[in-house]
Amino acid sequence: MQAGKKLKEKLQSTQRLLPALRLVWQSSPRWTIARIVILIVQGILPVVAIYLGKLIIDTVAASLTTADKTAAFNNVVIFVVLAAVVALLVNLANSLGQLVTTAHSQRVTDYMQGIIQEKSIAADLEYYENPEYYNVLQRAQQEAPYRPPQILNRLAQVGQNAITLIGMIALLLSLHWGIPGVLFVASLPAMLVRVKYSRILYRWQRKKTPMERQSAYLGYMLTVDQFAKEIRLFNLGSHFSQAYRRIRRQIYKESLAILTGRSLASFAVEAIAAILIFAIYSYIIYQTINGVLRLGDLVLYYQALQRGQGNIKGLLNSVSGLYEDNLFLANLYEFLDIKPKLIDPPNPEPIPHPMKTGIEFENVGFQYSTTTRKALKNINLTIKPGEVVALVGENGSGKTTLIKLLCRLYDPTQGKITIDGIDLSLFKTEELRRQISVIFQDYAKYHFTAQENIWLGNIDLPPQSDSIIQAARRSGADDVIAKLPKGYDTILGKLFDKGEELSIGQWQKVALARAFLRDSQLIVLDEPTSAMDPKAEYEVFEKFRQLIKNQSAILISHRLSTVKMADRIYVMDNGTIVEGGTHEELMKLGGTYAHLFEIQASQYM
Ligand code: ADP
Repeated sequence: MQAGKKLKEKLQSTQRLLPALRLVWQSSPRWTIARIVILIVQGILPVVAIYLGKLIIDTVAASLTTADKTAAFNNVVIFVVLAAVVALLVNLANSLGQLVTTAHSQRVTDYMQGIIQEKSIAADLEYYENPEYYNVLQRAQQEAPYRPPQILNRLAQVGQNAITLIGMIALLLSLHWGIPGVLFVASLPAMLVRVKYSRILYRWQRKKTPMERQSAYLGYMLTVDQFAKEIRLFNLGSHFSQAYRRIRRQIYKESLAILTGRSLASFAVEAIAAILIFAIYSYIIYQTINGVLRLGDLVLYYQALQRGQGNIKGLLNSVSGLYEDNLFLANLYEFLDIKPKLIDPPNPEPIPHPMKTGIEFENVGFQYSTTTRKALKNINLTIKPGEVVALVGENGSGKTTLIKLLCRLYDPTQGKITIDGIDLSLFKTEELRRQISVIFQDYAKYHFTAQENIWLGNIDLPPQSDSIIQAARRSGADDVIAKLPKGYDTILGKLFDKGEELSIGQWQKVALARAFLRDSQLIVLDEPTSAMDPKAEYEVFEKFRQLIKNQSAILISHRLSTVKMADRIYVMDNGTIVEGGTHEELMKLGGTYAHLFEIQASQYM
């Protein structure tokens, strides 16, 4: 019900054309002006050409009865030269038009991509976890590059057609007042058919987006290295490509049904129009045979009728095209209208630097908007300045969610998180995140140089900073990078030429270096060493307090031996903290931690 009402509102709103034109203008004022000028010239030239044609024929017809053929020829030759000049200008305008259109379209495409990227960066993380976001994004990306300039074209076509049409109508009115009316009536049904099918296509396009995305996903899986191993080993190739073809066939069938309907309807209305036009032709020929019209008139009216019909058709086509553009622009604005929920306060508090009392979770609860379960319940914990705190617990117990709340990727749905007593929402989010250095379990692997991979942890530093090498030494990445063919200048990953792939453990060392490079008050490592060999892991944690200098730290790890040295260890289960204390305290308690620790210790024996 709600969705239907919303769609109806969208269909009815006509407020989108002007903002779209503004986007076109902003993309490049100069090209926009050039385009408009050329479109106007292209509108005027045909009228001039036809009128010159009439003058030539009339002069030639008059010269048939004069004796002085040279003078008669001289009279007509001026018009011929002018007609040639006009023909040349038409060619010039067409060629220039192509150039301007191509260049302008490129500018608009890049500009719109920029706008979409800005929006994507500003959108909350939450959007990225919602399939509807991807549907909306996909539709916006489809429309963005060509729909706004198309509106400019269509408006220009309306102008062009209107200019030419006024001339043609004036001519045809002099023949018979009813003729322009018949032309209009003949073209109207085609416009109505088009409007009707615009709506059908629009609804269908919205319906098919998830199918399009699914097929794109299958196509993507078949072509990227991330899936290449499993696809071969589990022999999934033809399974996926069949699924891909099934979806494409479905889309094809649905699209064909709509397009066939449209073609049939167009054919029917065009046939009616053609019959009406031929009736008018017959009338003109009849008038000429009866001597009411001269030969020049016959040609003139014949052309005016043809052009007039073309123009009316063009005009109504542009109008219905504008209607269609307006409909489909909803797809673009739906994306551009996404508003971040996590907004900065108007007067942000300065971040305490250094922190005095530290970070505190007070009775924090959280539920992802897409689920009905609570991911966190009644979380109370503190991280004092300089403290190392560890979170342990089974997969899905809420550890990563807790960190995401701390970085304000989401706001708690209950309770609050404070730094020195000030709620996180009172800080500027960018400033808050500057104070935190996080490496998540699914850290990014940038297919850039090793140097850049680390530098991205703190792009306020110069890209060649010595701190990059120091950070790499702290994480153990330095040894890995030293063995690469071009050292720190080696491109990592296999996406680009001369790229060197690393093992997962080696990538992890690079990510860890990125975390160490950041000049933050808190460092958060979510399973930072899970893929490293025991020696490398031991080296990181043995000197951990030196490595982090005076930073506070939150460590998440499954290997309890690595978190043993933490000042406090919290054990999480099912979204709550079930135990907290030092290693010794928790061992003494003899609860979950002690149990897990003993199991792991016995495995390592
Ligand atoms: P851990 O880091 O301890 O493995 P997480 O914090 O990732 O656990 O997950 C806690 C719970 O929240 C899990 O039940 C998980 O399914 C759910 N969850 C995690 N991320 C999302 C998300 N983006 N949307 C919905 N539920 C999520």
